[in-house]
Amino acid sequence: MDLFNDDINDDVQSSEAYPPSGDGGFADVIIPLAVPRTYTWSVPERLQAQVQVGVRVEVELRKKRYAGVVKKIHNQKPDAFEPKGILNVLDATPIIHEQQLQLWEWIANYYMCSEGEVMAAALPAHFKLSSETILLFNEEMGEDFTMLDHDEYLVAEALLIRKELKLPEVQQILDTSHVYPVVKRLIEKRICFVWEALKETYTAKKESFVLLNPVYDNEEKLSELLNNWSRAPKQMELLLSYLHFMKTEGEVSKTALLKKSGASDAQLKGLIDKEILFIEKRAVDRLVNLPRNIEIDFELTPAQQTAFDEIKAAFTHKPVCLLHGVTGSGKTQLYIKLIEEAIKKGKQVLYLLPEIALTAQIIRRLQKHFGGYIGIYHSKFNQNERIEIWNKIKSGEMKIVLGARSALFLPFVNLGLIVCDEEHDSSYKQQQPAPRYNARDAAVYYASAFKANVLLGSGTPSVETYYNTQSGKYNLVELNERYGAGALPSIEIVDTKPIFKQTKEKVIIAPALNEAIEKSLEQNKQIILFQNRRGHTPHHVCKVCGWIPHCRYCDVSLTYHKFKHKLQCHYCGTVYPVVTTCEACGSHDFMKLNFGTEKAEEYLQELFPKAKIARMDYDTVSGKTAHDQLIQQFEQQRIDILVGTQMVVKGLDFEHVNLVGILDADSLLSFADFRVNERGFQLMEQVSGRAGRKDADGKVLIQVANTQHPVLQFVKAHDYKSFFAFEIAGRKQFAYPPFTRLIQITFKHKHREIVEAAAQSFAESLKPVFGNYITGPAEPVVNRVRNQYLMEMILKLPKDANLLTRCREMIHTQEAAMHHHPSYKSVFMVVDVDAV
Ligand code: ADP
Ligand code: ZN
Ligand code: ZN
Repeated sequence: MDLFNDDINDDVQSSEAYPPSGDGGFADVIIPLAVPRTYTWSVPERLQAQVQVGVRVEVELRKKRYAGVVKKIHNQKPDAFEPKGILNVLDATPIIHEQQLQLWEWIANYYMCSEGEVMAAALPAHFKLSSETILLFNEEMGEDFTMLDHDEYLVAEALLIRKELKLPEVQQILDTSHVYPVVKRLIEKRICFVWEALKETYTAKKESFVLLNPVYDNEEKLSELLNNWSRAPKQMELLLSYLHFMKTEGEVSKTALLKKSGASDAQLKGLIDKEILFIEKRAVDRLVNLPRNIEIDFELTPAQQTAFDEIKAAFTHKPVCLLHGVTGSGKTQLYIKLIEEAIKKGKQVLYLLPEIALTAQIIRRLQKHFGGYIGIYHSKFNQNERIEIWNKIKSGEMKIVLGARSALFLPFVNLGLIVCDEEHDSSYKQQQPAPRYNARDAAVYYASAFKANVLLGSGTPSVETYYNTQSGKYNLVELNERYGAGALPSIEIVDTKPIFKQTKEKVIIAPALNEAIEKSLEQNKQIILFQNRRGHTPHHVCKVCGWIPHCRYCDVSLTYHKFKHKLQCHYCGTVYPVVTTCEACGSHDFMKLNFGTEKAEEYLQELFPKAKIARMDYDTVSGKTAHDQLIQQFEQQRIDILVGTQMVVKGLDFEHVNLVGILDADSLLSFADFRVNERGFQLMEQVSGRAGRKDADGKVLIQVANTQHPVLQFVKAHDYKSFFAFEIAGRKQFAYPPFTRLIQITFKHKHREIVEAAAQSFAESLKPVFGNYITGPAEPVVNRVRNQYLMEMILKLPKDANLLTRCREMIHTQEAAMHHHPSYKSVFMVVDVDAV
């Protein structure tokens, strides 16, 4: 039903002449802006019946229009100002639910941002309209506008000619009172779409799928074809295997078909030429319309079954449970069983992953079991797909969603379970822009609104989560056995000090690792080498005076990239020509200190000229599908040695890896951050988990100079519990989370003196109340980024709700005061709660 019939549209109002009366009451409306609170508009009587909580309405603020979401309807006229009237109602039914509004409010409150900022992150672009919105003409729709009404037609014509329009331009074309409803209908009719600048471009991996000509969906036609087959028996064989796979797997990729049937490309081409089969290129994580059925074709092992029963028992008395299971223990299998139970009860399930890159691997596994019940959602999908999933979740039709952070904002109606896989991963925390929320923690809140359960899973739980299990807030279930014969890999510490003493050079591959690599290569096994820096050489140092080239805009030394033959700043990305003359002393003699993945790759190629070596880091996989391609090549054993940064660590499951080398563990253990031990342990343990997943003799070599670092002993013994005991004692002693709540405040300005003074004055204003909890303000290790000087202060607050509320209020007030100060007006301030 369309609410926007003509007599409403004819009821013209000019923006100056809103009836100030609140005949229909008042509405608090969230608009997608960083404003400190929600504003109130009055509800004109003519719209009273349509204004409901959760619908979008068109409102004006400071001469700009927005589609906002109604948060609350009430009768309290604001004292301070005369509210303007709502202009239009865009939705016949709420687009978001009560629970979502609660989640938005909770996030805004907890992470100290505005509900408008949460709204901007939560809604797909098509739901967000403002004066800044740009509409793009959808060329695919052609020029047939016969289904459009008069107003829609006017805008569509203009779009056809100009290809894009800003909303104020649409406003000029139409009578100003009914712009948004028309735009909304044009979007729904797919005449145009909303342009949204994507921060990163994500292109899903495409794969060729083989499909049967629909003519042969008819059984008779198919038997006729098969019975009358003459010649080309190999093609017949191929067709039969195709039909078999189709039956068992639901879909058949070209690669899988050729591999499993042993047929050739030419034989497949023969069937395609005969128009029996055809090929369709599809993104693998885009959804196919699979039949909706559940098929669980595996049994849990006794250890898994015990864990499964324990989790279910745990849920009967606490909603949140941590599954601490070593890598390869079958945590995913347990998730699958739990999901099965939830959807059999008619509930919806949210499956959170820390990164989009991981969805392609896991979706194949889940689709095998849940077919068309499952959908994927993330911020890089195109708008139509996002809206489609949004609507299917809202109607309850879709049962399982797999997604990264933003999937949390979907309008679930009947949420029963949230699985948060790799819960320790810092990618769950959004850094930039606000809301700077942790999706894991927000998920725990969101679940409570539905009385749903949350299963947090990890092989290396975050200190916070594990602490919550010890304090009794969450339940804990353990799974200590790897599935199958696979034992955890043995770990060897390689002391690099003696080698350094001899060679006076940073050790890239010590003799012990060299030998181990050789052995693995001989056995036709694969090797993963981890180095936490990309590029070739991180430091170019003048041999005479020690001068190091720095970025012009950041306080950071430049990294040499050999392939590009350039120096690059890893903070702002600026690229510089290679420096050959020291700017301090004029010398031409530079030495290269330390090494990155690029140098490691080069060096390995010298050591092992016959091996196939590849590199996986930000530089090599920034291209569209490079990440997936590399993974596939590695899976197919077309690469022997993979050198990479963090990217090689995450959740990847490779069969033939029996050796993992950590090239420079010192660099992992020497950050000036209270999480350094936790991150170091997690990274080393996770990267170790890549070795010997299907193999009994997995081995890990850790190269390190500081061999006495306590974390190494825990990694060596795969002993999380002792690591936790060690770490939690330190956290307690120095009042770090989980014993306190950390609020990090960063000030930015292009003049150092101003940012320093502003930060000092801000800190002073907090001191009377919070003096005991303030560290800083001080310059961070990197004190200038993109030409902005930085100052940082940290609040370590005791966990006390009243104190937190008070602190929040004070930060807001003092921020406002700072922005009214004549000298500090343009100082930019970022508040990050639970910064990671
Ligand atoms: P984790 O998520 O704990 O790292 P996975 O669930 O990925 O472990 O399991 C590791 C491997 O073992 C996977 O390939 C999985 O299919 C297999 N596996 C684990 N448990 C079972 C089981 N009960 N039956 C069949 N295969 C299993
Ligand atoms: Zn010099
Ligand atoms: Zn820079």
